[in-house]
Amino acid sequence: MTHASELRRRAAACVPGGVHSNVRLIGPDDIIDSAKGAHLYSVDGTDYIDHLLGQGPAFLGHSPDFLTEPVCDAIRNGMIVGGQTEREVRAAELLCATLDWADMVRFGLSGTEMVQAALRLARAVTGRRRVIRFEGHYHGWLDNVLITDRDGAWEAASAGQLASHLDDFLVLPWNDADLLADVLARDGEQIAAIIMEPIMINSGVIEPGPAYLERVRRMCARYGIVLIFDEVISGFRLGTGGAVRRYGVTPDLALYGKAIAGGVPVSALAGRVDLMRRIGTGEVNHSGTFNAWAPGMAAVVATLEHLRDNPPYASIADYGAKLMAGLREIGESVGEPLRVEGLPAAFHVSFGEGDVTDYRSLRQLDLDRYADLADVLVRHGVWVAKRGIWFVSAAHGMAELDETLTRFKVALKDWLV
Ligand code: PMP
Repeated sequence: MTHASELRRRAAACVPGGVHSNVRLIGPDDIIDSAKGAHLYSVDGTDYIDHLLGQGPAFLGHSPDFLTEPVCDAIRNGMIVGGQTEREVRAAELLCATLDWADMVRFGLSGTEMVQAALRLARAVTGRRRVIRFEGHYHGWLDNVLITDRDGAWEAASAGQLASHLDDFLVLPWNDADLLADVLARDGEQIAAIIMEPIMINSGVIEPGPAYLERVRRMCARYGIVLIFDEVISGFRLGTGGAVRRYGVTPDLALYGKAIAGGVPVSALAGRVDLMRRIGTGEVNHSGTFNAWAPGMAAVVATLEHLRDNPPYASIADYGAKLMAGLREIGESVGEPLRVEGLPAAFHVSFGEGDVTDYRSLRQLDLDRYADLADVLVRHGVWVAKRGIWFVSAAHGMAELDETLTRFKVALKDWLV
Protein backbone atom coordinates (compact mmCIF):
# COMPACT_ATOMS: atom_id res chain seq x y z
CA MET A 1 0.00 0.00 0.00
CA THR A 2 1.37 3.43 -0.91
CA HIS A 3 1.58 6.17 1.67
CA ALA A 4 -1.17 8.07 -0.22
CA SER A 5 -3.57 5.14 -0.20
CA GLU A 6 -2.88 4.58 3.49
CA LEU A 7 -3.64 8.27 4.18
CA ARG A 8 -6.79 8.08 2.07
CA ARG A 9 -7.94 5.09 4.07
CA ARG A 10 -7.36 7.01 7.31
CA ALA A 11 -9.05 10.11 5.90
CA ALA A 12 -12.13 8.12 4.91
CA ALA A 13 -12.58 7.22 8.58
CA CYS A 14 -12.45 10.78 9.92
CA VAL A 15 -13.21 13.20 7.05
CA PRO A 16 -16.57 12.69 5.32
CA GLY A 17 -15.96 12.42 1.60
CA GLY A 18 -12.24 11.86 2.15
CA VAL A 19 -9.64 14.55 2.16
CA HIS A 20 -11.23 16.89 -0.35
CA SER A 21 -14.95 17.31 -0.15
CA ASN A 22 -15.47 18.11 -3.81
CA VAL A 23 -13.40 15.39 -5.40
CA ARG A 24 -16.33 14.17 -7.48
CA LEU A 25 -16.69 17.49 -9.26
CA ILE A 26 -13.24 18.87 -9.09
CA GLY A 27 -10.64 16.21 -8.45
CA PRO A 28 -7.83 15.42 -8.71
CA ASP A 29 -7.28 12.78 -6.12
CA ASP A 30 -3.86 12.40 -4.48
CA ILE A 31 -2.34 13.46 -1.19
CA ILE A 32 -0.08 16.45 -1.52
CA ASP A 33 2.97 16.85 0.64
CA SER A 34 4.38 20.17 -0.55
CA ALA A 35 4.30 22.71 -3.33
CA LYS A 36 6.65 25.23 -4.86
CA GLY A 37 6.29 27.41 -7.92
CA ALA A 38 4.26 25.59 -10.56
CA HIS A 39 4.70 22.17 -8.93
CA LEU A 40 2.91 20.02 -6.39
CA TYR A 41 4.65 17.05 -4.79
CA SER A 42 2.65 14.11 -3.53
CA VAL A 43 3.48 12.14 -0.39
CA ASP A 44 4.66 9.34 -2.69
CA GLY A 45 7.01 11.63 -4.56
CA THR A 46 5.00 12.37 -7.73
CA ASP A 47 5.94 15.75 -9.20
CA TYR A 48 2.78 17.28 -10.65
CA ILE A 49 2.72 20.30 -12.90
CA ASP A 50 -0.08 22.30 -11.37
CA HIS A 51 -2.67 23.80 -13.70
CA LEU A 52 -5.35 23.99 -11.04
CA LEU A 53 -3.47 26.23 -8.59
CA GLY A 54 -5.86 25.60 -5.74
CA GLN A 55 -8.80 26.73 -7.94
CA GLY A 56 -6.88 29.90 -8.77
CA PRO A 57 -5.18 31.42 -5.72
CA ALA A 58 -1.59 30.35 -6.46
CA PHE A 59 -1.53 32.78 -9.34
CA LEU A 60 2.06 33.81 -8.60
CA GLY A 61 3.12 30.23 -7.94
CA HIS A 62 3.14 28.28 -4.69
CA SER A 63 4.99 29.92 -1.80
CA PRO A 64 6.58 32.71 -3.83
CA ASP A 65 9.67 34.08 -2.08
CA PHE A 66 8.37 37.67 -1.96
CA LEU A 67 5.40 36.46 0.10
CA THR A 68 6.74 34.01 2.64
CA GLU A 69 8.92 36.43 4.62
CA PRO A 70 6.29 39.18 5.23
CA VAL A 71 3.66 36.57 6.14
CA CYS A 72 6.01 34.72 8.53
CA ASP A 73 7.00 38.07 9.99
CA ALA A 74 3.33 38.89 10.72
CA ILE A 75 2.93 35.44 12.30
CA ARG A 76 5.98 35.97 14.51
CA ASN A 77 4.82 39.48 15.33
CA GLY A 78 1.75 38.40 17.30
CA MET A 79 -0.47 37.07 14.49
CA ILE A 80 -2.96 39.83 15.32
CA VAL A 81 -6.59 38.84 14.88
CA GLY A 82 -9.59 41.03 15.61
CA GLY A 83 -7.64 44.27 15.99
CA GLN A 84 -6.85 46.88 13.38
CA THR A 85 -3.25 46.99 12.27
CA GLU A 86 -1.11 49.24 10.15
CA ARG A 87 -0.93 46.32 7.74
CA GLU A 88 -4.71 46.49 7.25
CA VAL A 89 -4.62 50.23 6.57
CA ARG A 90 -1.83 49.75 4.04
CA ALA A 91 -3.61 46.81 2.41
CA ALA A 92 -6.84 48.83 2.08
CA GLU A 93 -5.06 51.89 0.68
CA LEU A 94 -3.10 49.81 -1.77
CA LEU A 95 -6.15 47.86 -2.91
CA CYS A 96 -8.18 51.03 -3.53
CA ALA A 97 -5.25 52.57 -5.40
CA THR A 98 -4.78 49.39 -7.45
CA LEU A 99 -8.44 49.12 -8.41
CA ASP A 100 -8.72 52.90 -8.86
CA TRP A 101 -12.55 52.91 -9.19
CA ALA A 102 -13.24 51.73 -5.62
CA ASP A 103 -13.11 54.16 -2.69
CA MET A 104 -13.33 51.72 0.22
CA VAL A 105 -12.83 48.04 1.00
CA ARG A 106 -13.65 45.55 3.75
CA PHE A 107 -11.66 42.37 4.18
CA GLY A 108 -12.81 38.82 4.90
CA LEU A 109 -11.45 35.33 4.41
CA SER A 110 -13.45 33.70 1.62
CA GLY A 111 -15.25 34.71 -1.54
CA THR A 112 -18.42 33.07 -0.25
CA GLU A 113 -18.78 35.45 2.68
CA MET A 114 -18.03 38.54 0.60
CA VAL A 115 -20.90 37.61 -1.73
CA GLN A 116 -23.22 37.62 1.26
CA ALA A 117 -21.82 40.93 2.52
CA ALA A 118 -22.42 42.53 -0.89
CA LEU A 119 -25.97 41.20 -1.17
CA ARG A 120 -26.81 42.38 2.34
CA LEU A 121 -25.42 45.83 1.60
CA ALA A 122 -27.33 46.04 -1.70
CA ARG A 123 -30.58 45.11 0.05
CA ALA A 124 -29.93 47.66 2.79
CA VAL A 125 -29.25 50.56 0.45
CA THR A 126 -32.13 49.82 -1.93
CA GLY A 127 -34.69 48.63 0.61
CA ARG A 128 -35.49 45.82 -1.87
CA ARG A 129 -35.20 42.09 -1.52
CA ARG A 130 -34.88 40.31 -4.87
CA VAL A 131 -31.61 39.65 -6.67
CA ILE A 132 -30.90 38.62 -10.25
CA ARG A 133 -28.12 36.17 -10.91
CA PHE A 134 -27.15 34.00 -13.86
CA GLU A 135 -27.06 30.39 -14.93
CA GLY A 136 -23.65 28.79 -14.50
CA HIS A 137 -22.21 31.61 -12.41
CA TYR A 138 -20.80 30.48 -9.09
CA HIS A 139 -21.01 32.70 -6.03
CA GLY A 140 -20.01 30.38 -3.22
CA TRP A 141 -21.64 27.48 -1.49
CA LEU A 142 -24.20 29.04 0.85
CA ASP A 143 -27.87 28.15 0.55
CA ASN A 144 -29.17 31.22 -1.20
CA VAL A 145 -26.73 31.19 -4.10
CA LEU A 146 -25.76 27.54 -4.39
CA ILE A 147 -27.94 26.26 -7.16
CA THR A 148 -26.78 27.45 -10.56
CA ASP A 149 -28.92 25.37 -12.86
CA ARG A 150 -32.52 24.51 -12.07
CA ASP A 151 -32.75 21.80 -14.75
CA GLY A 152 -29.54 19.86 -14.87
CA ALA A 153 -27.80 20.97 -11.67
CA TRP A 154 -24.14 20.41 -12.43
CA GLU A 155 -23.03 22.60 -9.56
CA ALA A 156 -25.99 21.00 -7.87
CA ALA A 157 -28.42 22.02 -5.23
CA SER A 158 -27.71 20.32 -1.95
CA ALA A 159 -29.71 18.15 0.36
CA GLY A 160 -30.47 20.24 3.41
CA GLN A 161 -30.40 23.47 1.44
CA LEU A 162 -33.00 26.03 2.53
CA ALA A 163 -35.20 26.39 -0.51
CA SER A 164 -37.02 29.38 0.98
CA HIS A 165 -34.19 31.68 -0.13
CA LEU A 166 -34.60 30.72 -3.75
CA ASP A 167 -37.68 32.88 -4.20
CA ASP A 168 -35.53 35.91 -3.55
CA PHE A 169 -33.41 35.10 -6.58
CA LEU A 170 -34.24 35.23 -10.23
CA VAL A 171 -31.82 33.05 -12.21
CA LEU A 172 -31.53 34.17 -15.84
CA PRO A 173 -29.44 33.13 -18.83
CA TRP A 174 -26.32 35.31 -19.01
CA ASN A 175 -25.16 37.36 -22.01
CA ASP A 176 -28.72 38.14 -23.09
CA ALA A 177 -29.31 41.86 -22.56
CA ASP A 178 -32.69 41.87 -24.34
CA LEU A 179 -34.07 39.25 -22.02
CA LEU A 180 -32.79 41.15 -19.00
CA ALA A 181 -34.36 44.36 -20.35
CA ASP A 182 -37.74 42.60 -20.60
CA VAL A 183 -37.50 41.27 -17.06
CA LEU A 184 -36.52 44.67 -15.70
CA ALA A 185 -39.28 46.47 -17.61
CA ARG A 186 -41.67 44.39 -15.51
CA ASP A 187 -39.84 43.93 -12.20
CA GLY A 188 -36.92 46.41 -12.25
CA GLU A 189 -38.13 48.41 -9.29
CA GLN A 190 -38.20 45.34 -7.04
CA ILE A 191 -34.63 44.26 -7.75
CA ALA A 192 -31.95 45.10 -5.18
CA ALA A 193 -28.92 43.78 -7.05
CA ILE A 194 -27.63 42.06 -10.15
CA ILE A 195 -24.66 39.83 -9.39
CA MET A 196 -22.50 38.15 -12.02
CA GLU A 197 -19.07 36.86 -12.87
CA PRO A 198 -18.27 39.64 -15.40
CA ILE A 199 -16.41 37.00 -17.38
CA MET A 200 -17.81 33.57 -16.71
CA ILE A 201 -15.00 31.32 -15.52
CA ASN A 202 -16.31 28.74 -13.08
CA SER A 203 -18.44 26.64 -15.40
CA GLY A 204 -16.43 27.28 -18.55
CA VAL A 205 -14.66 30.42 -19.69
CA ILE A 206 -17.03 32.68 -21.63
CA GLU A 207 -16.46 36.38 -22.22
CA PRO A 208 -19.32 38.88 -22.10
CA GLY A 209 -20.77 39.61 -25.53
CA PRO A 210 -20.18 42.99 -27.21
CA ALA A 211 -21.72 45.82 -25.15
CA TYR A 212 -23.41 43.35 -22.79
CA LEU A 213 -21.81 44.71 -19.64
CA GLU A 214 -22.41 48.31 -20.76
CA ARG A 215 -26.10 47.59 -21.28
CA VAL A 216 -26.41 45.90 -17.89
CA ARG A 217 -24.63 48.88 -16.34
CA ARG A 218 -27.12 51.31 -17.92
CA MET A 219 -30.12 49.23 -16.88
CA CYS A 220 -28.90 49.10 -13.27
CA ALA A 221 -28.54 52.88 -13.23
CA ARG A 222 -32.01 53.31 -14.69
CA TYR A 223 -33.78 51.10 -12.14
CA GLY A 224 -31.62 51.95 -9.12
CA ILE A 225 -30.18 48.41 -8.94
CA VAL A 226 -26.80 47.74 -7.34
CA LEU A 227 -24.47 46.08 -9.86
CA ILE A 228 -22.13 43.57 -8.23
CA PHE A 229 -19.21 42.03 -10.10
CA ASP A 230 -17.98 38.83 -8.53
CA GLU A 231 -14.29 39.03 -9.40
CA VAL A 232 -13.21 36.36 -6.95
CA ILE A 233 -11.50 34.50 -9.80
CA SER A 234 -11.07 37.18 -12.45
CA GLY A 235 -9.89 40.02 -10.17
CA PHE A 236 -6.14 39.67 -10.21
CA ARG A 237 -5.89 36.91 -12.75
CA LEU A 238 -6.85 38.91 -15.86
CA GLY A 239 -4.79 41.90 -14.82
CA THR A 240 -4.62 44.00 -11.67
CA GLY A 241 -7.91 45.71 -12.47
CA GLY A 242 -9.61 42.43 -13.36
CA ALA A 243 -12.65 42.43 -15.61
CA VAL A 244 -13.46 46.03 -14.66
CA ARG A 245 -10.34 47.25 -16.41
CA ARG A 246 -10.46 44.70 -19.20
CA TYR A 247 -13.99 45.60 -20.27
CA GLY A 248 -14.09 49.21 -19.05
CA VAL A 249 -17.36 48.82 -17.15
CA THR A 250 -17.51 49.79 -13.48
CA PRO A 251 -19.85 48.07 -11.02
CA ASP A 252 -21.15 49.56 -7.77
CA LEU A 253 -19.58 46.79 -5.70
CA ALA A 254 -17.05 44.07 -6.50
CA LEU A 255 -15.70 41.04 -4.70
CA TYR A 256 -12.16 39.76 -4.71
CA GLY A 257 -10.48 36.68 -3.26
CA LYS A 258 -8.22 33.85 -4.37
CA ALA A 259 -5.19 35.55 -6.00
CA ILE A 260 -5.50 38.81 -4.04
CA ALA A 261 -3.12 37.56 -1.36
CA GLY A 262 -0.92 35.18 -3.34
CA GLY A 263 -2.63 32.08 -1.92
CA VAL A 264 -3.17 33.21 1.68
CA PRO A 265 -6.88 33.25 2.60
CA VAL A 266 -8.14 36.82 2.19
CA SER A 267 -11.14 38.23 0.38
CA ALA A 268 -12.38 41.76 -0.11
CA LEU A 269 -15.53 43.71 -0.82
CA ALA A 270 -14.78 46.94 -2.68
CA GLY A 271 -17.07 49.73 -3.70
CA ARG A 272 -18.04 53.34 -3.93
CA VAL A 273 -17.98 55.39 -0.77
CA ASP A 274 -21.71 56.19 -0.73
CA LEU A 275 -22.50 52.45 -0.48
CA MET A 276 -19.53 51.24 1.51
CA ARG A 277 -19.80 53.81 4.30
CA ARG A 278 -23.06 52.18 5.41
CA ILE A 279 -21.09 49.13 6.60
CA GLY A 280 -19.70 48.74 10.07
CA THR A 281 -21.30 51.84 11.53
CA GLY A 282 -24.11 49.99 13.26
CA GLU A 283 -26.34 50.06 10.19
CA VAL A 284 -25.14 47.21 7.98
CA ASN A 285 -23.34 44.53 9.92
CA HIS A 286 -20.25 42.83 8.56
CA SER A 287 -18.11 40.85 10.94
CA GLY A 288 -15.86 37.83 11.27
CA THR A 289 -13.29 36.94 13.90
CA PHE A 290 -10.45 36.50 11.48
CA ASN A 291 -11.28 39.35 9.08
CA ALA A 292 -8.20 41.40 8.24
CA TRP A 293 -5.92 39.08 10.24
CA ALA A 294 -2.41 40.46 10.16
CA PRO A 295 -0.68 37.68 8.15
CA GLY A 296 -3.41 38.01 5.50
CA MET A 297 -2.97 41.77 5.36
CA ALA A 298 0.79 41.33 5.04
CA ALA A 299 0.10 38.98 2.14
CA VAL A 300 -2.19 41.50 0.40
CA VAL A 301 0.42 44.25 0.73
CA ALA A 302 3.22 41.98 -0.54
CA THR A 303 1.10 40.69 -3.44
CA LEU A 304 -0.13 44.08 -4.61
CA GLU A 305 3.34 45.60 -4.35
CA HIS A 306 4.73 42.67 -6.28
CA LEU A 307 2.09 43.02 -9.00
CA ARG A 308 2.85 46.73 -9.25
CA ASP A 309 6.64 46.30 -9.40
CA ASN A 310 6.88 43.03 -11.39
CA PRO A 311 3.69 42.67 -13.42
CA PRO A 312 3.47 39.01 -14.46
CA TYR A 313 0.71 39.41 -17.03
CA ALA A 314 2.79 39.44 -20.21
CA SER A 315 4.60 36.22 -19.32
CA ILE A 316 1.37 34.52 -18.22
CA ALA A 317 -0.29 35.53 -21.48
CA ASP A 318 2.65 34.18 -23.48
CA TYR A 319 2.77 30.88 -21.60
CA GLY A 320 -1.02 30.44 -21.66
CA ALA A 321 -1.30 31.20 -25.38
CA LYS A 322 1.42 28.66 -26.19
CA LEU A 323 -0.20 26.06 -23.94
CA MET A 324 -3.63 26.58 -25.50
CA ALA A 325 -2.19 26.29 -29.01
CA GLY A 326 -0.15 23.22 -28.02
CA LEU A 327 -3.17 21.41 -26.58
CA ARG A 328 -5.20 22.14 -29.71
CA GLU A 329 -2.40 20.90 -31.94
CA ILE A 330 -2.03 17.66 -30.01
CA GLY A 331 -5.79 17.09 -30.21
CA GLU A 332 -5.67 17.61 -33.99
CA SER A 333 -2.66 15.32 -34.39
CA VAL A 334 -4.48 12.37 -32.83
CA GLY A 335 -7.78 13.12 -34.59
CA GLU A 336 -9.57 14.24 -31.40
CA PRO A 337 -10.17 17.98 -31.87
CA LEU A 338 -10.31 19.68 -28.50
CA ARG A 339 -12.07 22.91 -27.74
CA VAL A 340 -9.63 25.12 -25.87
CA GLU A 341 -11.45 28.36 -25.12
CA GLY A 342 -11.00 31.41 -22.98
CA LEU A 343 -8.04 33.53 -22.00
CA PRO A 344 -4.43 32.45 -21.52
CA ALA A 345 -4.62 32.98 -17.76
CA ALA A 346 -7.79 30.86 -17.44
CA PHE A 347 -9.18 28.63 -20.11
CA HIS A 348 -11.55 25.72 -20.56
CA VAL A 349 -10.94 22.45 -22.36
CA SER A 350 -13.78 20.28 -23.63
CA PHE A 351 -15.03 18.18 -26.50
CA GLY A 352 -18.04 18.97 -28.68
CA GLU A 353 -19.39 21.29 -31.33
CA GLY A 354 -21.27 24.54 -31.64
CA ASP A 355 -20.95 28.12 -30.47
CA VAL A 356 -20.72 28.67 -26.76
CA THR A 357 -22.12 31.98 -25.57
CA ASP A 358 -23.78 31.02 -22.32
CA TYR A 359 -24.18 28.22 -19.83
CA ARG A 360 -26.91 26.44 -21.78
CA SER A 361 -24.80 26.12 -24.91
CA LEU A 362 -21.87 25.04 -22.77
CA ARG A 363 -23.96 22.24 -21.31
CA GLN A 364 -24.46 20.86 -24.83
CA LEU A 365 -20.76 19.98 -24.94
CA ASP A 366 -19.46 16.60 -23.91
CA LEU A 367 -18.10 17.64 -20.52
CA ASP A 368 -18.03 14.11 -19.10
CA ARG A 369 -15.69 12.99 -21.82
CA TYR A 370 -13.15 15.61 -20.82
CA ALA A 371 -13.62 14.68 -17.14
CA ASP A 372 -12.49 11.13 -18.02
CA LEU A 373 -9.44 12.47 -19.83
CA ALA A 374 -8.61 14.70 -16.86
CA ASP A 375 -8.34 11.63 -14.63
CA VAL A 376 -5.82 10.08 -17.00
CA LEU A 377 -3.92 13.34 -17.24
CA VAL A 378 -3.55 13.50 -13.46
CA ARG A 379 -2.11 9.99 -13.54
CA HIS A 380 0.46 11.34 -15.99
CA GLY A 381 1.45 14.16 -13.66
CA VAL A 382 -0.59 17.14 -14.79
CA TRP A 383 -2.80 18.42 -11.98
CA VAL A 384 -6.07 19.58 -13.54
CA ALA A 385 -9.73 19.80 -12.61
CA LYS A 386 -12.31 17.46 -14.07
CA ARG A 387 -14.52 20.42 -14.91
CA GLY A 388 -12.20 21.56 -17.69
CA ILE A 389 -10.73 24.73 -16.20
CA TRP A 390 -6.99 25.27 -16.58
CA PHE A 391 -5.17 28.02 -14.72
CA VAL A 392 -1.73 29.41 -15.49
CA SER A 393 0.61 31.07 -13.00
CA ALA A 394 3.59 33.38 -13.19
CA ALA A 395 5.72 30.44 -12.04
CA HIS A 396 5.05 28.40 -15.18
CA GLY A 397 8.04 28.59 -17.50
CA MET A 398 9.11 26.99 -20.75
CA ALA A 399 10.29 23.82 -18.99
CA GLU A 400 6.77 23.32 -17.60
CA LEU A 401 5.28 24.07 -21.00
CA ASP A 402 7.28 21.37 -22.77
CA GLU A 403 6.70 18.88 -20.00
CA THR A 404 2.95 19.55 -19.78
CA LEU A 405 2.51 19.12 -23.53
CA THR A 406 4.61 15.95 -23.56
CA ARG A 407 2.58 14.48 -20.69
CA PHE A 408 -0.65 15.59 -22.28
CA LYS A 409 0.20 13.85 -25.56
CA VAL A 410 1.02 10.57 -23.84
CA ALA A 411 -2.09 10.80 -21.64
CA LEU A 412 -4.36 11.51 -24.59
CA LYS A 413 -3.01 8.53 -26.51
CA ASP A 414 -3.34 6.29 -23.45
CA TRP A 415 -6.88 7.46 -22.88
CA LEU A 416 -7.81 6.74 -26.50
CA VAL A 417 -6.74 3.09 -26.42
N1 PMP B 1 -17.28 33.64 -6.45
C1 PMP B 1 -16.55 33.15 -7.44
C2 PMP B 1 -16.64 33.80 -8.79
C3 PMP B 1 -15.72 32.07 -7.23
O1 PMP B 1 -15.00 31.59 -8.24
C4 PMP B 1 -15.66 31.48 -5.95
C5 PMP B 1 -14.78 30.27 -5.67
N2 PMP B 1 -14.62 29.40 -6.73
C6 PMP B 1 -16.43 32.03 -4.95
C7 PMP B 1 -17.22 33.13 -5.21
C8 PMP B 1 -16.39 31.47 -3.56
O2 PMP B 1 -15.16 31.76 -2.99
P1 PMP B 1 -14.59 30.87 -1.79
O3 PMP B 1 -14.43 29.49 -2.30
O4 PMP B 1 -13.29 31.54 -1.41
O5 PMP B 1 -15.58 30.96 -0.68
